[in-house]
This record gives sequence, structure tokens and C-alpha cells, in this order.
Amino acid sequence: MSELRDECGVFGIFSKDEVLNIVEETYLALYALQHRGEVGAGIAVNNNGKIVHYKDFGVIPEALPEKELARLKNGQIALGHVKYSSNEQVDHANLAPLVMSYIKGQLALCMNGALTNYHELQASLNKEAAIFQSNGDTEIIAYLIARARIHAGTIEEAVQTAVREIKGAYAVVLMSPSKLIGVRDPLGVRPLCIGKIKGNYVLTSESCVFDSMGGEFIRDVQPGEMIVIDSDGLHSHTEMCGGKSACCIFEYVFFSRPDSVLDGVSVDLARQRAGKILAREYPVEADIVCGVPDCGRSAAIGYAMESGIPYATGLIKNKYLGRAFRNRKNHSEYLMRIKLNALKHNVEGKRVVVIDDSILKGKTSRHIVELLRRAGATQVHMRIASPPFKNPCYLNSDTTAKENLMAASMTIEEMRQYMGADSLGFLSVDALREIVKESRLSICDACFTGNYPIDVSDTSRDDKYSQKF
Ligand code: SF4
Repeated sequence: MSELRDECGVFGIFSKDEVLNIVEETYLALYALQHRGEVGAGIAVNNNGKIVHYKDFGVIPEALPEKELARLKNGQIALGHVKYSSNEQVDHANLAPLVMSYIKGQLALCMNGALTNYHELQASLNKEAAIFQSNGDTEIIAYLIARARIHAGTIEEAVQTAVREIKGAYAVVLMSPSKLIGVRDPLGVRPLCIGKIKGNYVLTSESCVFDSMGGEFIRDVQPGEMIVIDSDGLHSHTEMCGGKSACCIFEYVFFSRPDSVLDGVSVDLARQRAGKILAREYPVEADIVCGVPDCGRSAAIGYAMESGIPYATGLIKNKYLGRAFRNRKNHSEYLMRIKLNALKHNVEGKRVVVIDDSILKGKTSRHIVELLRRAGATQVHMRIASPPFKNPCYLNSDTTAKENLMAASMTIEEMRQYMGADSLGFLSVDALREIVKESRLSICDACFTGNYPIDVSDTSRDDKYSQKF
């Protein structure tokens, strides 16, 4: 159960069917993306160029109550967004979709990811007297598009001009009065895919949306590709495609749902492979293997398959935590206490191998070992289905300072002692490529290796994160 939390989730639909209730379709799609962000959610609907929207804090039923959705009139294009942030003080202005009025009418945007040249762009826009409502990347992109649109002949040209100015990892979905547009960053760090729901084109973060809504997955957006959907159908712009790629390996380790397929690789299968390799790299004699829910489960099944040790449910997760709970003082401390529980009848008197997806600060791992011992486990062997997380990620919407990363300052033996496990083993860096071996894309593994696929040396980036988080 990674302490690096989920990212944001994006969704956009273009309806050619006037009777389709796109507000409802967007609302349901956001449920399929809820795992990517529980801080807030929003929906924007475009009816002949007039955009109305609603967004608020909380998980979807809290953020988007029925009475507010009823006020959103149906239209031809809609955007939906779920937001994650580790900052408990997120401003409402940072929720998405962001809706703005400019020289050509209205525009709505949402994104998943982070800009690495945020400060540089913000400073340059400030000189042009830009007035920012938020401190988010989405607003920077919106300004750049609005500025470019003054001279560009079409919204597509304006978007392309804007994305040439931004650096970082992003999946952006936006709507103009008549078009739905999606752009994936040139490295393909953040995921974005195309499909259809009830015959209408959709752009979204993960393919699980199509399965859960009875839709049809068509393909992933290529790194650098811009997709434009209008009344004439789907148009692909590939001028920025063809460079090196670096899809985020952490999407497979933790961020994405196991029933998603990203860039041709099943997330569940990638996790199972990680578990199998881990069983070969760090074997141990034990009575049961269990996974830390949710993301450690597939790897635990892989470990059990490879080692021959029976798989059992050792830990149960409490999923029913709403906004009121998250707003409590010291909520992260309470969260750890009530989120997991050990299943005594499965672990009592047993030597337990427990598989987790990753370790950041290590407090959760220590708590898990304590829980299992309290429930009667005679030995607890911790196995981690990814390498030691030593470096902050500057390519998603959340990051953890290096000094908070346990693996950045402790040896593996020190970490084992801290969490009180009988043994501790991490997946090797070499195994990461193997778990996504059929992907056409190269991977980013910078949080494990420090080899960032783009320049993150912007000295102002830490200021940005300390401002945002
Ligand atoms: S640094 Fe890690 S979390 Fe960030 S994009 Fe790369 S692999 Fe993903």
C-alpha cells in the first residue's frame, strides 16, 4: 500500500447522439477512475459552446451530488476529472475541470501529470499580466492555449503551440465549443487512451473505464500524439511523435487499476510477473503468502504461484472513508490505524510472506508487520514488488521530498530493523523491464534509479511543490 498516492484521472466524451445523457456517462466513468484521486471531482458539459460545470471536494458521491448534476444541462461534449493531492489544504480553484472564457469563447481543461518548467512559464505569463486563480499546471496550459489562439487559425494549432512550450509529463483533455481534444506528453509518461461508449468517442486515463461501462477500448494515444474529435470523427496529429519514450513504471506497480491494460500490457499481469520474479530473487520458507490490499495482491498471487507457498488473505482494507474522515485533524495517523486489519484465523501460528507494492516512508510497513504479529504470525517476511524508492518523482502531481524516502537514507537491513520484519527483499531494477516486456515503449524508472527521462534540474521545482503541497 504505497504511501505515494494515486494520481489524477481524466475523461472526455464527444456525443454524436443527442439523447445520450453525457453527464451520467461521465459520472459513471469517474467511478471507474476513483482510485486515481479521492480529493475532489468535477464535470463540465458543453452545450453549443456554453460550458457549465460543477466540482467539489471529496469522493465522487460527496463531490458530485445528484442535485448539482441535475443542474448540468446535457450537451455534446463533457469532461470529467478526479483529483489527487497530498496537500490537505487544496484550494477549490485547483480542482478540475478548469473552465475559462477567452477571446474565442469558452474552454475547459483537465490534466493528469506535472510540468517541470512550471515556474519558468508562470514567470513569463506574469510579465504579461496574467492573473492566476490557482497554483496548478492546468491553468498554465490554459493560458498558453488562450495566448496562442490569438494568432492561430484553429484551436488545434493553438494547442500544438502551447504543448511545444510545456515540459513534463501530462495527459491533457480539453474541450472547445465544438471539439474534444486530448494530448499525451512526448515521452508517454502519463497514460491516455481512446475508446467508445455507446458508439461515442471517449478519451480517458485507463482502459478499465471501457470495461466497467460496457464500452470498447480502441487504442492508446501515442506519446506526443494529439487527438481531435469533432462532428467529422477522430483526427490524429502525430507531428510530436517518434522521439524516445519513458512510460511510468509506477503505473504498473501502483497507480493503475489491475483490470487496465496500458500500452499493450495488463497491469495485473505485470504485477503477477513482479511477484514471480520476487519469489526467485528472494525465496523464503513460509506457510502462507498474502498481499497488502489492493496493489500487493496480484504480486502476492505471482509469488505464491512461483514459490508453491499457498496464497491466503492476510489483510483486509477498509475502503469506506469519506471527506469527513479526511478532514479530521491527524487524519493520516487515524488512516493507518483503521485502513487495514489482519485476518487472525489465516495468519495465527503461521510464517507469513507479505507482499506490498512499494515503500516510501516505511511507517505503513511497520504497522503491517505489527498487525500481523499481533494477529499471531510467528514470522513476517516482507517482500516488495518494486525496487527501493530512493528518488522523488517530479513527473506526477504528487511528490515526496527525498529526506522522507526511507530507502534514500537507510540500508535494507536498517529498513528491516525499523519495520520489525524477519526478512526484507525488494524486486531488482533489472526486473522492471521484464514485467512490461511486451510494451512498445521504454520505461521511466527514475524513482528507483535517479535516471530522469527529462531535465528536472529546475531549481525552482522544490518551491513549486512546497507551495502546492
Ligand atoms: S519517477 Fe517513478 S513515479 Fe515518476 S514517472 Fe518515473 S517511474 Fe513514474
